Amino acid sequence: MNKKRLIFLGPPGAGKGTQAKILANYLEVPHISTGEILRKAKQEGTPVGLKAKAYMDRGDLVPDSVLQELVQERLQQDDAKTQGWILDGFPRTLAQAEFLENLLPQINQKCDLTINLTVADEVLVGRLAKRAALEGRSDDTEEVIRNRLIVYQQETAPLIDFYQKHLVTLDGDRSLDIITGELKNITGENSSN
Ligand code: ADP
Repeated sequence: MNKKRLIFLGPPGAGKGTQAKILANYLEVPHISTGEILRKAKQEGTPVGLKAKAYMDRGDLVPDSVLQELVQERLQQDDAKTQGWILDGFPRTLAQAEFLENLLPQINQKCDLTINLTVADEVLVGRLAKRAALEGRSDDTEEVIRNRLIVYQQETAPLIDFYQKHLVTLDGDRSLDIITGELKNITGENSSN
């Protein structure tokens, strides 16, 4: 059986977004990236975008209430209801994880697996600085990168314990193709866990 509902955990720069996109395509499920949704909202100047902007530009987390409302709505759209999803960037705090635990049974959904991509801090800083040069994201300056890594350690790393039972940890400091291959094995048609 394919795994159709997955959560991706990992620090900024671990490659979550890249892998989540490839895997979502392979499993034919929507890729739900809260960072992408917020960046789009910010660009379009929607009420959510206006609320999120200052937090994102500092590398801080946007308040839980904003994210919870956004994800609750997104998971109940038709594509997510019928096909499944890969959640990339949510949950990022314990409060968000607890919210999701409560929400899923209420909307008749269940997460199949949580994937944790790990990469050492020195490697992350290098990758993010490179991405900053390529993409020019406003939250990819050196000072903001440092803050995002601190915020990750404080707020998001505790989720590894929270999801311990249903967690697969992969070393993200290897070639993209190797990681993708492993992810396909773990989640694809013949996966057993
Ligand atoms: P990263 O490269 O750090 O993984 P993302 O693209 O996932 O970045 O997210 C960019 C920014 O969007 C975060 O630094 C944060 O401000 C905001 N954000 C995204 N998801 C969440 C969330 N679940 N809770 C709070 N803020 C979030």
